[in-house]
Amino acid sequence: MRLRRAADAACFMKKDKLQAVEETASNTTAPMIQVEHLVKRYGATYALSDISFEIGAGEIVGLLGPNGAGKSTTMNILTGYLSATEGNASVGGVSILDDPMNAKRLIGYLPEQPPVYPDMTVDEYLSFVYDLKHCTLPREEHLNEIRDVVKLQEVRRRLIRNLSKGYRQRVGIAQALIGDPKVIIFDEPTVGLDPKQILEVRNLIRSLGGKHTVILSTHILAEVQAVCERIVVINHGKIIANERTDELARVIEENAHYVYAICGPQREVLNGLRSVKGVLYCEVRTEREGEAYTYLVETAAGVEPRRAIFRLCAERGWAIVGAAATGGDLESVFIKLVDRANTTESKGARGRKEARK
Ligand code: ADP
Repeated sequence: MRLRRAADAACFMKKDKLQAVEETASNTTAPMIQVEHLVKRYGATYALSDISFEIGAGEIVGLLGPNGAGKSTTMNILTGYLSATEGNASVGGVSILDDPMNAKRLIGYLPEQPPVYPDMTVDEYLSFVYDLKHCTLPREEHLNEIRDVVKLQEVRRRLIRNLSKGYRQRVGIAQALIGDPKVIIFDEPTVGLDPKQILEVRNLIRSLGGKHTVILSTHILAEVQAVCERIVVINHGKIIANERTDELARVIEENAHYVYAICGPQREVLNGLRSVKGVLYCEVRTEREGEAYTYLVETAAGVEPRRAIFRLCAERGWAIVGAAATGGDLESVFIKLVDRANTTESKGARGRKEARK
């Protein structure tokens, strides 16, 4: 199945046809990837219920969601392996559902399991994919450039079966790059790699942005944070956020929290912190540690209390020995987004149930 997929992914590319498709993709004003009201239903189960998003040329976008959210379904529809129940998806202005052959010409795909032939050497395999894709770029120059980019030169004559998982993943990335596709799609590209290999693969993916449009599907938040400019968060087949990575934390408008470790008389410090403008709540977090107590400070969203707290402590002679903002990291934002979506969904379901009564 995997190998059939590899062969399938490396679809035929006749020179004139490929050029025509690429020209259409370059000339179109449409986003490089456009997903419109996609629905995928399996019997009574909705793997995707009406999702829409766009990705501009050269963007690196992460598709993030817990297991079962609908990521693979989205990727499989985008790469032409799965039909949709409703809706449309296009790549470079070419509909993947109406014209899959031409849309696929614009896509390089790395499935979760790299589609490699273990009994071939790296060079044999890359050459094989080059032929399969009917690639028209100068063979040696193109493959050499890819081996350089993906750092495969030193293993080019080795059998793929003898490579480490990290190198095998690079071979998988190399096959996706053959033909210089406008869009590259990675499905969970770092699963099973060691920390060094993970960093290498992430750097490699980041370096592809600008020249290629990249979609990265993952359930690992740190991965999208490290690599992507924008994140589309999907849960139970619905999009629950579509934001720039650096702005996602601001999506959830709620109170901000800070933790301070301050040396000074506990009651006075507590009262002092409570008197700072914008502070809604303050409590002592821990028993005394050395000369300091830890305090949790809560303010309304958008209020910045840190300068005022610093001035207060300086005036009273209390040393601040630790300070951190908490709860604003993406991990907690992601958990809150999923919780919020689940709560809204269960409220909706309850409402619908009651309405039926
Ligand atoms: P993810 O990739 O985010 O883990 P998937 O896209 O694989 O999620 O799955 C989304 C939902 O669709 C899940 O609930 C999954 O069980 C369901 N699903 C996927 N493929 C099938 C199938 N062939 N038949 C029935 N349900 C499926």
